[in-house]
Amino acid sequence: MIFSNIKKLDQTYIAGTYARNDLLVQQGKGATCQDDTSRTLIDFSAGIGVNSIGFGNPAWVQAVKEQIDKLSHISNLYYTQPMALLAQALCQRTGMKKVFFANSGAEANEGALKTARKYMSDHYPGQRDTILTLINSFHGRTIATLTATGQDSMHQHFGPFPQGFVYAKANDIADLEEKLTPRVGAILLECVQGEGGVIPLQQDFVDAVSNLCRQRDILLMVDEVQTGVGRTGKFLALEHYGIQPDVVTLAKGLGGGLPIGAVLFGEKTKDVLGKGDHGSTFGGNPVCCAGACAVLEMMDDAFLSRVTETGHYLRKRLEAMPGIVEVSGKGMMLGATLQEGIKNTDVIAACGQQGLILLAAKHKLRFLPPLTISREELNTGLGILEEVLAKLTHPLT
Ligand SMILES: *Cc1c(COP(=O)(O)O)cnc(C)c1O
Repeated sequence: MIFSNIKKLDQTYIAGTYARNDLLVQQGKGATCQDDTSRTLIDFSAGIGVNSIGFGNPAWVQAVKEQIDKLSHISNLYYTQPMALLAQALCQRTGMKKVFFANSGAEANEGALKTARKYMSDHYPGQRDTILTLINSFHGRTIATLTATGQDSMHQHFGPFPQGFVYAKANDIADLEEKLTPRVGAILLECVQGEGGVIPLQQDFVDAVSNLCRQRDILLMVDEVQTGVGRTGKFLALEHYGIQPDVVTLAKGLGGGLPIGAVLFGEKTKDVLGKGDHGSTFGGNPVCCAGACAVLEMMDDAFLSRVTETGHYLRKRLEAMPGIVEVSGKGMMLGATLQEGIKNTDVIAACGQQGLILLAAKHKLRFLPPLTISREELNTGLGILEEVLAKLTHPLT
């Protein structure tokens, strides 16, 4: 089927919730993919941080194929091996105690919010019912996770929104202390705000959050949907800060391209959700879990060191580019602020035409390449970006 026909079907039959780029991606290998004209594109997006090990990683493909041949689905009323092995691998990797499997980031966060509410109603009935999140955060698109998302622009059209949320400014300890009323029983945060513009939290702020949580028995819940599973050079981004969370959520990069989310519970929260308290028909799907197990198996210390190294290299190259005034983020999750007068959407469109897939985060360029991207692919992509930026900064030469 030719692109124009596919586009017509899409625009006729698919709800118009996305501003799609004018590009039909047909196949990929590593960090390189092809469109319908066999034009090659370098992928600096990994989906949106999903294809953590690139397109078509052989070990991952084999694990997924083997599992789909054996058993593609059975309900959560029965045991399956991939789910049990993945839960063990996640707990051993993170020091967390138990796992609940969902299918996406929003669902994982929904599970975290329910855990916080049950913990508050179990331990502080009538006293605590409120969850604190950070301004400029992003936690998902369901009604509850939209409410948790600390951006006024997201709090339109879909009301009434659930109660029991307050918002504090990121990296502002005084504002945090002010918003932390006696009704607050949990704090949910991203260590690096992703959709909000690739903005890392500061160590002293995270320390303050962590101390307040310990002192007052407030649950510390970390949304690692974007930052988790090696993205920042540690398995979890919270390892950069040395904090001990009560709940961690994962999704994007976990399945290596298959839909899976996870809620990880610490000692305090591991038994909060009991039989009948929560569930998901698709959660823990054996094929998705087999794919995730393959991702985790690859992600040893040497793999994570390479992520750190590649992240340093990427940052240095970006910092030296015309038109880029600041680079933020950690590991291979970076954001670039552009010089005034250059629009990120123009850069992304021009890069797309030259064969580089790039993301935005607010007004910045956002870099989430596959963690396995080769130096050659990285250099090809950076070459395209550099050329585009050079033209935009010196339009007459
Ligand atoms: C993407 C994202 C989500 C939502 O994940 P979905 O899979 O789209 O539901 C939640 N939190 C963070 C930090 C994210 O980056």
